[in-house]
Amino acid sequence: MIVSKFGGSSLCDAAHIRKVAEILKSDESRQVAVVSAPGKRSSDDTKITDRLYRCEKLASEGKPITDEFEHVRERYLQIAQELALDSNIGEALDQVYKNISEGAGPHYAASRGEYLNGILISEYLGWKFIDAQDVVIIEDDGTVADETYELVGKAVEPGFHYIVPGFFGRDRKGIVRTFSRGGSDISGAIVARAIGADIYENWTDVSGISKADPRIVKNAQVINKLTYSEVRELAAVGFNVFHEDAIAPVREAGIPIQVKNTNRPQDEGTSIVASRDASEDPVVGISAKKDFVKISVHKLFLLKRPEMKDAIEKALREEGYSLDFTVAGIDDLTYFAQGPQSGETVASLLKERFSVESSSVEAGFAVAAVTGEGLSCEAEAVSRLFPALLERGLSVEFVNIGASPVTALFGIRESEVKEVIHTLYDVLFS
Ligand code: ASP
Repeated sequence: MIVSKFGGSSLCDAAHIRKVAEILKSDESRQVAVVSAPGKRSSDDTKITDRLYRCEKLASEGKPITDEFEHVRERYLQIAQELALDSNIGEALDQVYKNISEGAGPHYAASRGEYLNGILISEYLGWKFIDAQDVVIIEDDGTVADETYELVGKAVEPGFHYIVPGFFGRDRKGIVRTFSRGGSDISGAIVARAIGADIYENWTDVSGISKADPRIVKNAQVINKLTYSEVRELAAVGFNVFHEDAIAPVREAGIPIQVKNTNRPQDEGTSIVASRDASEDPVVGISAKKDFVKISVHKLFLLKRPEMKDAIEKALREEGYSLDFTVAGIDDLTYFAQGPQSGETVASLLKERFSVESSSVEAGFAVAAVTGEGLSCEAEAVSRLFPALLERGLSVEFVNIGASPVTALFGIRESEVKEVIHTLYDVLFS
């Protein structure tokens, strides 16, 4: 059995939905398709989800939503018409319009993108529709409740094919609730695990996951195979191909994920698996995350006073910083943190409260990561990365090799992210 999730770009209009139908019908074992809301048709188009969020915002401000909602209505009506569906989607749209206008809230509004698309696609394919609200329970912290797996498992009967809208479920009170943005990946992973799928296919508009952001490295090579751990490590540092929270459900059940291109189904794509032979491709990818603030603290014997270190970190957290990466010296602590960008008051707070000799908070940093299960066997290539960055005149704030067996980290300047990615890519993959 295969669960196939299609992203918004794969379902943006009738022509794409036809392609999706062809893919689904070409293999009987594709039993459940999890669908997103219609995405962008061109780079200057607007995703339906974004339009729905806008409608909700207008409604919450007491403003009319008619003009914005018209775009939503038109998109679905056009899809229905071009697919020659005898659908009563118009009535469903009227209901959604009414509910959003009457203050149904952001979760409900955003969820209707997938809901309405799911209805149309199920009508087109003649597959059964499962309303995610009936089977997916989302806890207050945004995680999926355990009983979801049983509910989804019961709803999917052998011998039938199903469409499940992604991105939402219900909360404990029974009210519609969405996952975070891009959350249809999570829905797909949940369904795959619930029905014990052999493969979880993730269909998108690229032929797999690239070794570096293709917007930075044009024609970056595609990764053939990588592990769940590698995806997680890359995602934590800005790799934006697969929703981080979508890994856990399939990882626990050992279900491989296959990332495929709806527009080029013949391309192999990328497999995400539990383990791989790392000698073939020791390093799989490079990523970078921006918006870091560098917080530096200097005080004599700082590291001999762990209680002070703890108190400093507590104070910084209270000021709204997540201390993502810490570099400790003898008398110095440096944090690469995400949080408020202007930190003069924090710097003086540290001086006053902890009598540190100096402290500073500076914005404009990024963290780059080089990831691969074979990293530790690649000492020679890894040792060339730091000099290569310096040779090109790029600043390196810290290098962290060895803390993780899978990832090497570089603290860099945000303005130099592109050059850093190019340099690391050249050394490792060219
Ligand atoms: N449509 C939602 C979003 O734009 C969820 C998804 O596509 O996965 O975030």
